[in-house]
Amino acid sequence: MTDLAPFLAAIEGVPVETDRALVRQKSRDFFWYSPVLKRQLNRVTADAVVTPRDEAEVARVLAAAVRHRVNVTPRGAGTGNYGQAMPIRGGIVLDLSALDRVVWTRPDAVRAQCGAKLIDIDAHTRASVGGELRFHPSTKRTATLGGFIAGGSSGIGSCTWGILREPGNILGLRLLTMEQTPRAIELRGLDIQKANHAYGTNGVITEVEMPLAPAWEWVDVVAAFPTLMDAARFADGFTRQDGIAKKLVCVLAAGIAQAHFRALAPVLPAGRAIALLMVAAPFLEFLPALLAPHGGTEVHRQRSDAAEVPLYEYSWNHTTLQVLKTDKSVTYLQTLFPPPVHLAKVAEMEAAFGDEVPIHLEFVKFGGEVACFGLQLVRFTTEARLAAIIAAHEAAGCPIFNPHAFTLEEGGMKKVDHDQLAFKREADPLGLLNPGKMLAWENPDWRPSQSRHLYETA
Ligand SMILES: Cc1cc2nc3c(=O)[nH]c(=O)nc-3n(C[C@H](O)[C@H](O)[C@H](O)COP(=O)(O)OP(=O)(O)OC[C@H]3O[C@@H](n4cnc5c(N)ncnc54)[C@H](O)[C@@H]3O)c2cc1C
Repeated sequence: MTDLAPFLAAIEGVPVETDRALVRQKSRDFFWYSPVLKRQLNRVTADAVVTPRDEAEVARVLAAAVRHRVNVTPRGAGTGNYGQAMPIRGGIVLDLSALDRVVWTRPDAVRAQCGAKLIDIDAHTRASVGGELRFHPSTKRTATLGGFIAGGSSGIGSCTWGILREPGNILGLRLLTMEQTPRAIELRGLDIQKANHAYGTNGVITEVEMPLAPAWEWVDVVAAFPTLMDAARFADGFTRQDGIAKKLVCVLAAGIAQAHFRALAPVLPAGRAIALLMVAAPFLEFLPALLAPHGGTEVHRQRSDAAEVPLYEYSWNHTTLQVLKTDKSVTYLQTLFPPPVHLAKVAEMEAAFGDEVPIHLEFVKFGGEVACFGLQLVRFTTEARLAAIIAAHEAAGCPIFNPHAFTLEEGGMKKVDHDQLAFKREADPLGLLNPGKMLAWENPDWRPSQSRHLYETA
């Protein structure tokens, strides 16, 4: 445990929590989705939680942490699911949820503080300029904007707009460096990638500027299909319909929704694959003709903003959460089924693994093409079997963004991001920000095969 007394004295006046139970609570995220991370990270806790109320207080905290060599792990709402916001080397959790102001809004863009909740930003921009964020994670009701940029990637709206990494989906980031006198840096254009999805390892984001899309009246539609591939072929074609405003094209193998989505189950026909869609109201009348060639029929419809549980809370990583509520034995994968062979690869993996890996697909635009991400469920038996399933997908040409690893490199493309590493040298020269999450910081020559013995913490 770090001796925090001199550091805490230096930040007197900034809210601090040291109660062990509360600190432990805010040292955790949804890492327990993964049996591997659960084993590795279950005992992780910070020494204190510090909650600055404005950017000046964030700067004071960072300056004092540098002076007293205290590790700092930024935190938004703690909904990340690979332990991104967990302080694996102790120190403080920097809770940024109090920086929650919308700074300004224009008809085409919004700038907000990092701790603003995505749902509050959307409510604000809808009311003031008739716009909304292009896309959001399925944790929209709780997640913060800074946490989405630093820890997330894509979500509801990615079927139209692609993922955060694609140029144009983030307009600007303001961040503070981890130095004795913290500097504020504004990243714009392609420089944004230096800190996008860096798990808060190379700067504390204080403000984010995002483009807006038109705010439609969204309608949730559930459709049923004879087979998984019927649903997947419909979803692929539907995602290509650029004339139809849509936010969600999700496909679930037969049985997932019927067995685990309690509120929807009564309307879902047994034995059928399911598609979850969000479509703008004016375009609904096109749906029957697009569903019919694939044997699809609409089985349920609700207004997205009026529903107790909006359909997006059954999609993306919420699918796994809903299933875990009734079956604790499952875990999941994150797979890219690469275009243009994505549908063939889905069929290949369905045939290879059957009910051991029930298929869940999210259709997206990816590099200008239609592709699908798999967030397949896995009926977990052993870590060795899970590793074998992952290896088989990669050998078949379907890259896995491993959700059972807590470092940037292992969870991502299994390679060092040299731009993020170079920016860390500039913005966090002592390596105090979220230490242990960027393998390349400790070993710039890191290779995938080296990771396990270096970062096994249990
Ligand atoms: C049920 C469920 C569904 C999900 N669905 C999706 C989805 O559809 N799409 C998706 O992309 N993700 C999804 N996620 C992951 C996660 O919810 C999102 O990425 C979310 O946006 C994270 O926001 P947060 O505020 O909770 O961030 P946190 O979990 O608090 O933090 C995430 C990372 O960002 C860092 N961080 C936080 N704030 C800052 C800051 N201001 N400056 C620097 N670093 C910072 C943290 O250190 C951490 O590394 C899901 C997770 C769950 C549990």
